[in-house]
Amino acid sequence: MSDQFISENASEKDQILCLCGNSEAFAKKFTSLSYRFVSCKTCESLFRIPPYFEIEAYPDDYYGESETEKFWLSPIISLLEYERKGRARFLSKFCNSESSALDIGCGNGKLLKKISELKPNCKISGIELDSKAARRASKIDGIRVFNNGFHEANLSDEKYSAISMIHSFEHIPNPDKTIQKLAKHTANGGVVYIAIPNRSSFQYKLFRKHWLHLDPEWHLHFIRPSVLKSRMEKEGFEFIKAKHFHPVQNIPGFILSTHNIFTKKRDVLFNVLKDKKMLKKIDGLLSFIFLGLFSAILFVPAIIEEIMATLFRRGATIDMIFQKKV
Ligand SMILES: [Zn+2]
Repeated sequence: MSDQFISENASEKDQILCLCGNSEAFAKKFTSLSYRFVSCKTCESLFRIPPYFEIEAYPDDYYGESETEKFWLSPIISLLEYERKGRARFLSKFCNSESSALDIGCGNGKLLKKISELKPNCKISGIELDSKAARRASKIDGIRVFNNGFHEANLSDEKYSAISMIHSFEHIPNPDKTIQKLAKHTANGGVVYIAIPNRSSFQYKLFRKHWLHLDPEWHLHFIRPSVLKSRMEKEGFEFIKAKHFHPVQNIPGFILSTHNIFTKKRDVLFNVLKDKKMLKKIDGLLSFIFLGLFSAILFVPAIIEEIMATLFRRGATIDMIFQKKV
């Protein structure tokens, strides 16, 4: 089997440009999944094939059944809320009456709402494909929502002092173009806050194609953090810090990835936690009970993995913060 996977005659849309600069040499990965993946031969960042979506919007159930949250289990909601507050507090430090904030992939707009509560005078915008979630975000007072993809959104000459991409970067095709647009629209001294699944994590090494955060239906690329950092620096950003401790994402990541090794379908419990109605069906209820019990056994190893990953800077998901040089 040839290692060469991307045809020289591929259309522009199918072309992959890795952030390390390689656009030619890729090796096959995970060919048994419904989506194929290739690995950059230079830096081992991972790309899904096809490297784009054919969708106008995310399906209504993508953001969960609830009006406000992706999951229905209250401890998960509280933990997500806690994480969101921390990010809002950080981003709001860069917002004032003369500046503006932008959340790319804003979903229901909950992060933006938190920022606007902390800094009511800051001009606040979000970008989200036209969906139920985007319509909910548009209803929040004082928030402008662009209803299209990041590359398509017409931001004219606007410069933002705080830009966030909370688990949206990996959903947007052509990461190189994304970084160029980020650079164009970040004000000098402004910050870009990117949360991504970490290709260099212990969890990726452990679980590979079973990894929860691989989410092959929706995640298009997994750029190594060191490569993202170098590419951002080339666009005039300074790397401020990376945060590896994310128990809300990473502990379920360990537990549900372990489930994926044993279950026929991927992410069974994850989907039940998004849609309470599945409990009314016998297979949904049985999955919830059995995988719930299995999760209880996996909880301690998951915590140990999270602590080790934080200590060794190999978190399953990481937040990377960059500041545009003045
Ligand atoms: Zn690469």
